[in-house]
Amino acid sequence: MKTRTRLASAGLLLVFLAALAPRAAAVDARTAQKIDEEVEKVRAEIIKIRRFLHMNPELSNREYETAKLAAAKLSSLGFDVKTGVALTGVVGLLRGGQPGATVACRADMDALPIQELTNVPFRSLNPGVMHACGHDIHTSIALGTAMVLNSLKDRVKGNVKFIFQPAEEGAPVDEEGGAALMIKEGVLEDPPVSAIFGLHVWPETAVGQALFSPGEIMASSDWFQITVKGRSAHGARPHEGIDAVVVAAEIVAALQSVVSRALDPADPAVLTIGKIEGGVRSNIIAERVTLEGTVRCLSEANRKKIPQVMESLVKNIAAGFGASTTFDYRPSNPSVYNNPELAQTMLPTLVRVLGRDRVQEFKPQLVAEDFAYYAQRIPGFFFFLGVRTPGQPSAPLHSPAFNPDERSMALGIKVMCHLLLDALEKQSVPAGDGLGF
Ligand SMILES: [Zn+2]
Ligand SMILES: [Zn+2]
Repeated sequence: MKTRTRLASAGLLLVFLAALAPRAAAVDARTAQKIDEEVEKVRAEIIKIRRFLHMNPELSNREYETAKLAAAKLSSLGFDVKTGVALTGVVGLLRGGQPGATVACRADMDALPIQELTNVPFRSLNPGVMHACGHDIHTSIALGTAMVLNSLKDRVKGNVKFIFQPAEEGAPVDEEGGAALMIKEGVLEDPPVSAIFGLHVWPETAVGQALFSPGEIMASSDWFQITVKGRSAHGARPHEGIDAVVVAAEIVAALQSVVSRALDPADPAVLTIGKIEGGVRSNIIAERVTLEGTVRCLSEANRKKIPQVMESLVKNIAAGFGASTTFDYRPSNPSVYNNPELAQTMLPTLVRVLGRDRVQEFKPQLVAEDFAYYAQRIPGFFFFLGVRTPGQPSAPLHSPAFNPDERSMALGIKVMCHLLLDALEKQSVPAGDGLGF
């Protein structure tokens, strides 16, 4: 685990932008022009690929056809391709024409159990399954980036590893999967990856824009379950039992004070109880109630403290009523951390490609992304790509009406190409002048 620099959020991007010393553009004008030309050449094919993926969405750890498509495309480009990584994952290595480090571009491939409600002609053919988180766009952008960089590989100073990851949305119960399993199976080794890049579509922001912030930008996501055990009795004779519903209600109310009273208000966190189940009948005192929820944090300090405070509250409240409890708390994704040194090095690239007024600050969100696992191991750079059609409202992520603007893809490919090439270029600068990350 890397030591994290904790960054205050307000106006961070502006502070960062203002602090950037002018650096020589890493990608020269001819290469930049070539990227533009190659993006134009692949644009139609990428839209075709995206529509195929959209019509054929596959659930987490079941991305068989998506993986086949990615592997076939990467093989056709002459990359070294590994399949079956973390079950259905695909890894393709582009070896550049010049020696250098290895950087990675990560895309996720899975869809969600949602029935699509859009009217697009390429809507899902798989009933109850939909690319409602835009992972079809992510996969297509990564493939487009592979195609474009392959066409200028003589100029690539090092290697680019393309990671097509399954199960970002979470593996099915009792299965491993996602970024953590990809890492366990060595995706960041052989050759070792020095920095990793990823993006997520963002429907609140218009096409042509990107959002970014250094430091923690998305939350950790942990799961908990509390069971309250009382004693059953006749509904009209509560004094003969221990009412698990009343105890659970006290616990629900008390847990609201964890974030508001036990944590630094400047360091956001969320505690949500999303499920409550218990009792058997209206006139029977409930013997058992279970509560299930999620905890989201940006900092590891909060992540450590919250379960301790929760457990103590739960135990002591229950004890006050004579009830007993179990407390099951399971950590999942860490928070997504944009390495500040890498951000300082790469942000000029984002600004150069898009224009300064089109790169906005991304306020930390309490949603989660398993890109976090990569960024916990090596420097990571994760940004958000606007996919809203200008002048129109847009449905949010995970909505059955989600319909990102496809024009975002060419821009996503272009930005990703520049980021990866600049990252390699900057690492190839001789030691002393080098911008090591
Ligand atoms: Zn999602
Ligand atoms: Zn997603």
